Amino acid sequence: MVIDLHCHSLHSDGTDAPGRLALLGEEAKLTALCLTDHDTMGGTADFLAMQSQVKVRLLAGTELSCQFLGRSLHVLGLLVDPVDARFQARLEELRGRRDDRNRRMVARLAELGCAITLDDVQAHASTPLLSRVHFALALATRGFVKRPADAFARLIGDDCPGFVPREELSPAEASLWIREAGGVPVVAHPGRFAGAAFRWEDAMAELQRQGLEGLEGYYGEYRAAEQKYFIALAARLGMVVTGGSDYHGTHKPGLRLGRGSGGLKVPDELLERLETQQRFGSHH
Ligand code: AMP
Ligand code: MN
Ligand code: MN
Ligand code: MN
Repeated sequence: MVIDLHCHSLHSDGTDAPGRLALLGEEAKLTALCLTDHDTMGGTADFLAMQSQVKVRLLAGTELSCQFLGRSLHVLGLLVDPVDARFQARLEELRGRRDDRNRRMVARLAELGCAITLDDVQAHASTPLLSRVHFALALATRGFVKRPADAFARLIGDDCPGFVPREELSPAEASLWIREAGGVPVVAHPGRFAGAAFRWEDAMAELQRQGLEGLEGYYGEYRAAEQKYFIALAARLGMVVTGGSDYHGTHKPGLRLGRGSGGLKVPDELLERLETQQRFGSHH
């Protein structure tokens, strides 16, 4: 029995409608599926409304970007209350910072000789939340790169000249916001933040001190050795293990819901453990 606690709809940078994700989760024979769009829960109502039509348990979540050790670290807010007004206001503030960043990124790209408009970017998105995924598509459409992947390689990837960072939360702030909305704060895909040489032992302990209660031990793109490493790390630190595909629809062609790039199998016992953590929290 498998679950998937990380996926995106067209409300952030995925390509499937939330209702369609629920059906795909059913088709993949998942027992639970959590929607985790970046900075928004705009798809949650449509997603949860599908519960009467599917057996797979539909759960609410989100994914927030934080600043940690000078780099961007993603934090999942799993099982957050989908109608918590304060949390919705906080997400709206994050989307404001994102809009700011997007305007500055348009200006920066123009300086680099790649003149696109926010309307060009919006043309590739289904909601007003614009992500770099939509910038990549606009840059390709305007002919500044051949394929969207080239935009990430040359222009808007984290270390590229056209990338403008946004003002990001601290892990402590993100954890507090998520906890106050009834959810569990979890370090998303730690293996993507830093490679094998990284001293995760200390860094993860620091994140735990800042309020992170779990980590993604199973992930759509992990190699077997990474999965083993992060599950063992969580056990040593007493953190909850979660897992998911990070499915984005056609924006990440190699990934399937529930299956990731192939052999992903997130055991459903992890959800029981997560729900216990949600009720009782950490003793730190
Ligand atoms: P944003 O939140 O607008 O800064 O965009 C970040 C999103 O862009 C991530 O969630 C990924 O979906 C995508 N992304 C970031 N870096 C890359 C990359 N190197 N290749 C492909 N997609 C990427
Ligand atoms: Mn994404
Ligand atoms: Mn992420
Ligand atoms: Mn994600």
